[in-house]
Amino acid sequence: AKKAVLGPLVGAVDQGTSSTRFLVFNSKTAELLSHHQVEIKQEFPREGWVEQDPKEILQSVYECIEKTCEKLGQLNIDISNIKAIGVSNQRETTVVWDKLTGEPLYNAVVWLDLRTQSTVEKLSKRIPGNNNFVKSKTGLPLSTYFSAVKLRWLLDNVKKVQEAVEENRALFGTIDSWLIWSLTGGINGGVHCTDVTNASRTMLFNIHSLEWDKELCEFFGIPMEILPNVRSSSEIYGLMKISHSLKAGALEGVPISGCLGDQSAALVGQMCFQDGQAKNTYGTGCFLLCNTGHKCVFSEHGLLTTVAYKLGRDKPVYYALEGSVAIAGAVIRWLRDNLGIIKSSEEIEKLAKEVGTSYGCYFVPAFSGLYAPYWEPSARGIICGLTQFTNKCHIAFAALEAVCFQTREILDAMNRDCGIPLSHLQVDGGMTSNKILMQLQADILYIPVVKPSMPETTALGAAMAAGAAEGVGVWSLEPEDLSAVTMERFEPQINAEESEIRYSTWKKAVMKSIGWVT
Ligand code: ADP
Repeated sequence: AKKAVLGPLVGAVDQGTSSTRFLVFNSKTAELLSHHQVEIKQEFPREGWVEQDPKEILQSVYECIEKTCEKLGQLNIDISNIKAIGVSNQRETTVVWDKLTGEPLYNAVVWLDLRTQSTVEKLSKRIPGNNNFVKSKTGLPLSTYFSAVKLRWLLDNVKKVQEAVEENRALFGTIDSWLIWSLTGGINGGVHCTDVTNASRTMLFNIHSLEWDKELCEFFGIPMEILPNVRSSSEIYGLMKISHSLKAGALEGVPISGCLGDQSAALVGQMCFQDGQAKNTYGTGCFLLCNTGHKCVFSEHGLLTTVAYKLGRDKPVYYALEGSVAIAGAVIRWLRDNLGIIKSSEEIEKLAKEVGTSYGCYFVPAFSGLYAPYWEPSARGIICGLTQFTNKCHIAFAALEAVCFQTREILDAMNRDCGIPLSHLQVDGGMTSNKILMQLQADILYIPVVKPSMPETTALGAAMAAGAAEGVGVWSLEPEDLSAVTMERFEPQINAEESEIRYSTWKKAVMKSIGWVT
């Protein structure tokens, strides 16, 4: 059969906490041509610990690339049209590997992991109250969430890591670094780099000078030699070079030229390029980012300051205010895997629809403490307001409502910090296929919720960055390049008063979850 004629294509690896995807877009219209997705395992070896296998993650990337290429073949699309590849990834998750063998020296310590709680407590005593240099340099509160403390834990507790550091064999990276190093050849000349957005989540990176910070590295006791080179989010890092034993050789030689932490990628994919534009992504966690332009805005209300993107070596850096919620989709996965009240995440919608209310039941899923705006590691999950009447449908509904209430808390903080309230909320992420959730969100925020018809904005952002890179130049980042994307709107349907009552009861429940562990 004759191959279809298309413009240049761009691929994107989207390596999330729940799954890995590879997607291929048409760079002229942003149309998604084909994709493949593989769910990845999460290990919970002890209470509060969350790990993933870096090799499984890498293997899932190969599998997704291969399957997507196969599907393109079935569509008669020539994969030699793929001109660049972008990478977007779960942020903060920490990997240390051996550069001589290519073997990870420990599992990836996932962003949600709480094992570093005592490390954080110890370190926080060493920060002078009147000079929080960690916060002012990184934009982040000291928390188990960020990479520096995870890396500190690995250096303190894993002999293999200590030895490799001493023998100058260790490389540290977040998932982007691990993947780019592996995909550009690994032990045969792999490129050890990261981009400014991922670097800004390590707690070792100065977001003003855009460099690794010596004082921070000393504070956390991190040897600077193991850190990756920091690059912009859009430039050629290296070319795909895949060992033949792993097949997936189809894209050999294609430049990897985009790299963004998943939340930054979604901001780009939603075209939030102007000061004051914001998006909320509902994945494992939930992350609301608001572009603050070239200024670093520091929050008075528990939000983070982070690097939004820098789309080219000579392009200016943009910053964002971020509200991070640890548990969003993860609560649905928990209802599936731990309680077994649903068999698939999609089923939650059916249960919630059956009742259309939580009947006074509130579910605070503080499994990993509470992130923004509270930053309370002492919080743990609670389900309250139960009666004899409560059933699994009410709990399902309460779980969805919890995601919406948490977003409301972030949005309130964002509005206070920014001064100009958002007039609508742009959303994306795996959970946004849930229509009940979207409607509830509009009701609880009392502003419209706007969702792109093509939900894969994270991957789209990474593809855009890759396609726009110098030396690739197949994507111009103009709105007309998104002609294939249309929007769906959810308007608030309940009145503000009713919404306020529910929200204030939610806050009462949150207070009960705080201080559970000491
Ligand atoms: P990540 O990028 O963190 O890997 P995704 O954006 O892929 O996450 O979203 C996956 C999450 O969304 C999972 O935690 C899953 O439980 C949840 N999810 C997927 N579909 C639905 C649905 N229809 N309703 C509610 N939650 C869902």
